Amino acid sequence: MQIHNIDFHFHAGQERDEGVTLADHLANAVMTGRKVVNLTDHGELYLGGRRLPDNAPYSKGIEGLAEYRAELDKLKSQFPSLKLFFGPEFHPTIDLDTVPGELAKMSDMFLCALPPVEETFAANTAGRLARLDEIRRFRDRMDRPVLIVHPFHSCVKYQLVTHPIAPWITDIPIRDVGQYSLEELNKFFRFDISTLASACREMDLSVEINGGTHEMARLLNLPSVIGMLWSAFKFLAGEGVDIAPGSDQHEVSGPRGRLGVSVPADAFEAIGITAKDIRLLAKLDS
Ligand SMILES: [Zn+2]
Repeated sequence: MQIHNIDFHFHAGQERDEGVTLADHLANAVMTGRKVVNLTDHGELYLGGRRLPDNAPYSKGIEGLAEYRAELDKLKSQFPSLKLFFGPEFHPTIDLDTVPGELAKMSDMFLCALPPVEETFAANTAGRLARLDEIRRFRDRMDRPVLIVHPFHSCVKYQLVTHPIAPWITDIPIRDVGQYSLEELNKFFRFDISTLASACREMDLSVEINGGTHEMARLLNLPSVIGMLWSAFKFLAGEGVDIAPGSDQHEVSGPRGRLGVSVPADAFEAIGITAKDIRLLAKLDS
């Protein structure tokens, strides 16, 4: 098993393009080399205020998640090369304490995101820590493993996309992985990464290296940002945090056609993490 074979963040649900089936997404997974796949969808589309797209395949509410899971179970025998899991994704707009307990029965794991980093450094860190505590309660109540998804996505987006790119960011030197100081990483990512590390280690939460975040950074032509991302994950791994891969691919058709989102295998290679190191995989296998 290689890293690109493992994708814990593979979307296929309410947002499927018209005429595209769940089987089409699974066929895409097979032909793009995926072998372990966690099928996900945004929890807000079922349990939150987010409006369903026209022609959404499943109902609103917990029933919709049950329908998605049932369709996945029905298709499993057609895709014997895939080891398939089901794990909805929750952003901070969902109060995890209100998620119905019956969701545990139909889920193998959960993806949980942290709040964005729009405030001061101290407030961003405190907000993320509070959410991590809510996630821990949720994990304990559901008794399913949780993957903290795209922990640096909103940070890269803030620095490179939603605000003008500051000259100090353009000028960050390109260095090898592990050669950026924690101070430099904290300044760029706008929260205290060591707090995230100790919380995730103590709470036994896995953390995702996300393909979508890598794609965004690469499209901005700043290799130093990739270097900082990899350095941040190397720091987390060094602090004993379990690191796991996810692409965050949503579409298998549409304007980009077959061009989806990669599992960032190069990041794992740079940090020195292999498939057998991933504790989340072992948890799901047991
Ligand atoms: Zn996602």
